[in-house]
Amino acid sequence: MLNYLFFSSGQLLSQMLNKGASDLIQERLSAHGVKFLLQTDATAITGTDHVQGVLIDNSTELEADLVIVGKGVRPNIGNLKDFGFQLGLGIQVDSSLATNLPNIYAAGDIAETWDLARQAFTVNATWPNATTQGRIAGANMCGRR
Ligand SMILES: Cc1cc2nc3c(=O)[nH]c(=O)nc-3n(C[C@H](O)[C@H](O)[C@H](O)COP(=O)(O)OP(=O)(O)OC[C@H]3O[C@@H](n4cnc5c(N)ncnc54)[C@H](O)[C@@H]3O)c2cc1C
Repeated sequence: MLNYLFFSSGQLLSQMLNKGASDLIQERLSAHGVKFLLQTDATAITGTDHVQGVLIDNSTELEADLVIVGKGVRPNIGNLKDFGFQLGLGIQVDSSLATNLPNIYAAGDIAETWDLARQAFTVNATWPNATTQGRIAGANMCGRR
């Protein structure tokens, strides 16, 4: 059975890695026989009492006996739009985790911080990041810059 990895985006780990780094991982996995389908959505899992296949882009069915889903993170910011927060994928914060609104801080999966390496705002939705940001936000809320 072939191993396939589908990605809605044009590269793997698009929220975590730049293109060069993701290409390195893709090359290594390809060398072990993994097939990559980029800009492809898995739209349904087929089968009755056990998985038999995955439907991609509502048209082609690929045979499968195991499906693993790792779909990334999209913060639920819909109900925050009316409050005046500076929003991107999440709530954009400065290096003290302060939002653009006075005395409101954000940390963890909801916070979009400035990534020095990418020179772009990014959501880094991992547990260690959330706990570290919680500490930084808490310290700054208490007046310790
Ligand atoms: C299946 C899964 C596997 C994961 N595996 C890993 C892993 O292996 N390693 C890793 O580093 N990270 C992993 N993560 C990511 C990690 O869990 C998150 O990055 C981390 O928990 C984010 O912490 P947080 O405090 O920002 O948000 P959360 O942990 O989501 O906490 C938010 C809290 O706010 C509460 N809440 C929501 N809305 C309201 C409201 N209106 N009022 C009051 N409370 C509210 C929620 O109930 C929740 O308790 C995983 C996540 C998932 C879902």
